[in-house]
Amino acid sequence: MNELQFGSEWHDDNDVMDVTPHCPKCRSASIETRNLARRFGGAIGAIAGTTSGVALALTGAEIGLLAGPVGAMFGAAAGVVIDGIIGGATGCAAGSRLGAAIDQNILHNHHCRSCGYTFSDKPS
Ligand SMILES: [Zn+2]
Repeated sequence: MNELQFGSEWHDDNDVMDVTPHCPKCRSASIETRNLARRFGGAIGAIAGTTSGVALALTGAEIGLLAGPVGAMFGAAAGVVIDGIIGGATGCAAGSRLGAAIDQNILHNHHCRSCGYTFSDKPS
C-alpha cells in the first residue's frame, strides 16, 4: 500500500485530469489529502481478507482429510499460504476502495495547509 510519492521532478506534461482542489475558504492550492478511511480500510481489509482466506483454506483441509492425511497436509499448507495471500490482497483492495468512497463522500478528505480548513471533494 505504498503511495506514490511525486518529487519535485514530477512534471505534469500530460493533460490528465488535474483536479487539484483549492481551499474553498482562502483559495489556497496547498491542499493535502488525508485519505484516512482509505488507509484504515486497506489495513482492515487486508486483515479480514487474510483471516477469511486462512479460514477457507482450513475448511479445504478438512475436506482434504477425506482424501487422506498426506493430501490434507499438503493441501492445508498450500491453501493457507495461497488463500491467505490472495485473501489479504483482495481484502486490502476492497477495503481501500471502500475507504476511498468513504473519504470522498463522507469525510472531509482535504486539509488546507494555509488556513487549516477541512473540506470534502464534493459539496455536502
Ligand atoms: Zn485555506
